[in-house]
Amino acid sequence: MKRLRLYRQVASLLMVLWLAVGSASAQSATSGQRDVLREITDVVGLKPRFELRATTEVQNAAAVVYGGKRYLLYNPQFVGAVNRAGRTDWAGISILAHEMGHHLNGHTLKPGGSNPTDELEADEFSGFVLRKMGASLAQAQAAMAIVSDDEASPTHPGRSTRLTSIGEGWQRANQQIVASTRVPAPSATPAVLANRATAPVRTVATSSSPVSILGKITFRDNPNIPYYLTNRLNVVKIDPEERTAQVVGRIALSESINYPYVLVDGQQRRLYISKTGGIFDNSGRQVAMLSDPS
Ligand SMILES: [Zn+2]
Repeated sequence: MKRLRLYRQVASLLMVLWLAVGSASAQSATSGQRDVLREITDVVGLKPRFELRATTEVQNAAAVVYGGKRYLLYNPQFVGAVNRAGRTDWAGISILAHEMGHHLNGHTLKPGGSNPTDELEADEFSGFVLRKMGASLAQAQAAMAIVSDDEASPTHPGRSTRLTSIGEGWQRANQQIVASTRVPAPSATPAVLANRATAPVRTVATSSSPVSILGKITFRDNPNIPYYLTNRLNVVKIDPEERTAQVVGRIALSESINYPYVLVDGQQRRLYISKTGGIFDNSGRQVAMLSDPS
């Protein structure tokens, strides 16, 4: 009786999953998968000693240090909304580059919150990085043109100052690149400022779908640590103490009839998910169970 109920729950969960995989694979076909952190640190010749964490605990993005470790937290809804409003992936990348600029310039090691000098240094860093990654000046400025305030505040400079700093970083990288190659440079035309009344980011953000939990994954080796499957098909590990959610893998459709889904982690290791929610390793040993989240 109990088993049958569990089976029904898993069957309906797998149905939802199947629908979600269909829409997500259509999305990733257009946006593609990128390791943006590595791309950013590569252009400045550093190793990515940061952990990128998608979490709804931050409103947009933040560079933080927890217990001596450096994290870049970002709200996936915010980054997605900025990309749509800016009509470019560069918008989201520049926000991550800005946060990384805070870490690399040592801002997160000092006491106190945001201040205008630090913000302009992080802005200049993002302009530099985006030019190195191949963005035009307008693409490098796209996010800031949308999200920054017109007027300066005690913590943040006004928009035109910030766009100028991004431009300075972009030009510095551009001069290096132009001096070393003869290929045509990307367009240096600045971003055209959108009328904020017609392109409010918040409207876009509220219309995008929130992250929800489709299922729970329990590993036999570690049954006390819960992993969750989100509607974006990410497998996330929740740390209730640090109040963060770390994406540790993804679920995708497989070719197999008996194991219709595959769970792939950050090291490209694969686990196979059966029709009844059992999760198996390469040698056919069951290592985990996918169940209803409640
Ligand atoms: Zn900042």
